[in-house]
Amino acid sequence: MNEYYKKDLYKILGLTPDCDTAKIKAAYRKQARIWHPDVNDNSQESIVRFKEITEAYEVLIDEHKRSQYDIIKGFNIKKETSYSSKAREQSAQKAYSESSAATKEKTTSSTKTEEKPKNYTSNEKNHAGGSFSQVFENILDGLFTTNPSSDKNSKKNKTQKPQNGKDINLNVNIKMSEAISGTHRTVNVLHTERCPKCEGRRFINGSKCPLCKGTGEISIHKKLNVKIPAGIKKGAKIRVANEGNKGYNGGKDGDLYLYIDIEESSFFKYDGLNVLCEIPITPFEAVLGTSIDVPTLCGNVSMKIPPNTSTGQKFRLSQQGVYDEKNKKRGDQIVSVKIEVPKELSNEEIKLYEQLKNLSTHKIRENLMND
Ligand SMILES: [Zn+2]
Repeated sequence: MNEYYKKDLYKILGLTPDCDTAKIKAAYRKQARIWHPDVNDNSQESIVRFKEITEAYEVLIDEHKRSQYDIIKGFNIKKETSYSSKAREQSAQKAYSESSAATKEKTTSSTKTEEKPKNYTSNEKNHAGGSFSQVFENILDGLFTTNPSSDKNSKKNKTQKPQNGKDINLNVNIKMSEAISGTHRTVNVLHTERCPKCEGRRFINGSKCPLCKGTGEISIHKKLNVKIPAGIKKGAKIRVANEGNKGYNGGKDGDLYLYIDIEESSFFKYDGLNVLCEIPITPFEAVLGTSIDVPTLCGNVSMKIPPNTSTGQKFRLSQQGVYDEKNKKRGDQIVSVKIEVPKELSNEEIKLYEQLKNLSTHKIRENLMND
């Protein structure tokens, strides 16, 4: 407390020693607006400066302390005051004595005075000591609490109001076969949680929290295995309760939402529980018959093509369709064949086709109009 005798408290507030109380208040309000830590992200500089201006204000606004300070600093000589200079001087002398008493109680190396401490009443003592917080609550009242931008930064609001955690939205791509049969996906969720080091206050002893770098929050990766039910439609959302960002002060945790996107398949079409597809076969496969691999929702299945198969002929792969979980029923896959001529044929192949043409006696277009 005695340190302030070494400083020019008037200069700190941008004042001169002849200023009146109104000027001190105005100067302090002006400086406090600039240096209040709440509007400076609690920067070290603002904390130091605010402490300094507040200390200057505390002394200068208290008549008793101001007189005492003025005498020590020699400012009282030129002073014009609202009350008689004699009364002021008496008051100042007394205050100085009290101060000395206080000083001597704390330290034995005081060189400021040889005067012996006088007795003083407890009332006077209270006045001299002042109530720091009361003085500042009065002058700062309304200065920061009504400003919405500083409200946002205020610790009070951050720590006391229940805050619900925000929801997290993720997009999940699945294949049509997965949409039909149901599947599981492991999703990486990036949660934010209140920084455990600064507990969301962002600053520790005036410096940025080293863990969260002054954001008050930390990110946490979490892997979640989520079941995607069979029969899910494109654009559907799956809610995973309480896996969003953390809520605070009794606020709810957010939820995790998975937005389902289904990759379209050009191969499979759907008809209820049945899956439809078209498979190309070569002319000689159609004639001679063969065995081919057919993709299904659950992998390849071998299918027999009998000799003499025509385009458009359908084959049923039993129990290879969509599974209906509710009714415990599975559809079939209907395979339609289409005879396709390979685009590039070798000369040898063409020769063989020519031989075939010469050998053939079939007139397949003979009865076109006779039906
Ligand atoms: Zn932190």
